[in-house]
Amino acid sequence: MKVDVVRGGGLCSNCFILSDENKGKLFIIDLGMTGKLTRFALKKSLKKVVSEKYEDYELEVFLSHSHLDHIWGEDNLKKFQKITYSASELAANHINTRDEITLLSKYHGKISYTVNKIYADGDIIKFSDSELKVIYSPGHTDGSAVLYETNTKSLFAGDVVFAGGACGRVDFPTGDRWEMIATLDKLSKLDIEHLYSGHGPDLHQKVRENILTAKNMMEYW
Ligand SMILES: [Zn+2]
Repeated sequence: MKVDVVRGGGLCSNCFILSDENKGKLFIIDLGMTGKLTRFALKKSLKKVVSEKYEDYELEVFLSHSHLDHIWGEDNLKKFQKITYSASELAANHINTRDEITLLSKYHGKISYTVNKIYADGDIIKFSDSELKVIYSPGHTDGSAVLYETNTKSLFAGDVVFAGGACGRVDFPTGDRWEMIATLDKLSKLDIEHLYSGHGPDLHQKVRENILTAKNMMEYW
């Protein structure tokens, strides 16, 4: 599995680009903030990945949850024609109705796309040589979902858990501390070698310990 990481700065989320050059397909996890605020970092990375052959590529964009710092960066994708947006059912509902859970109106953010591919908990997404299992992971928001790549034992965690033993905030609308604890407990049972979180650095060792530290912190809190 080839992963290009577009590191988000400030509020902006990290974005992950999985690519299959032979089939002309990209699978992008999270979009970050609008390119206007991020110097179009995602757009620049995509340009390199596809060698400017935009018309040869089909994209799927999976959104880990509905917060604006993960869903706003649509303007990075303008050169692509074929784009499908996907998410969990609840995240898709929030994004498609631009409701207050997205925080879009608070920051005067606008998006024009619709999420029309919905994944259920436990679904497997096959992409190139990867198998990504969708795991519903409420706590940070009700519609949060993570992707677990079974071959490389990689977890794309959105804002559920970060390197450094922290988990996502639970004080935004639909956040829930007890759901977060249950989610972290569930994720701590996976065999994970690589953690790719929605913010901050990646982690390539002791991921289970990291998740358990985050869970313990939540329990004390
Ligand atoms: Zn978030």
